[in-house]
Amino acid sequence: MTRDPDCIFCKIAAGEIPCQKVYEDDELLAFKDIRPAAPVHLLIIPRLHLPSLNEADASHQALLGRMLTLAPKLAREQGADNGFRTVINTGHDGGQEVYHLHLHVMGGPRPWKHG
Ligand code: AMP
Ligand code: ZN
Repeated sequence: MTRDPDCIFCKIAAGEIPCQKVYEDDELLAFKDIRPAAPVHLLIIPRLHLPSLNEADASHQALLGRMLTLAPKLAREQGADNGFRTVINTGHDGGQEVYHLHLHVMGGPRPWKHG
């Protein structure tokens, strides 16, 4: 499935729900987290509906690599020029709330909201 009609991030990727977009290409989209935990808090998502890292397989390796290598570029562009944190929450015990794979990119001057 490339798209889940009930998925909020699929709707954002399709432009049906607004977001504060900071980057897009044919495979990826990045936007500001609506409840930022740090001065810079971005989410990088694939356009493809992949529920979580649990569903990722070898066919997604290039996509996952692209998500990771995009992170430092966007962090710098958004002003997080003194380091940043990357997080992927996976599954219930991983604290995942939105089941469309996303990479959190958090940075900016400390202290942050959640440490
Ligand atoms: P998690 O699934 O726990 O890794 O986190 C989901 C993240 O998505 C949270 O940090 C939310 O603040 C964020 N979020 C949920 N809905 C939106 C939205 N419409 N626009 C931007 N960020 C969102
Ligand atoms: Zn989705």
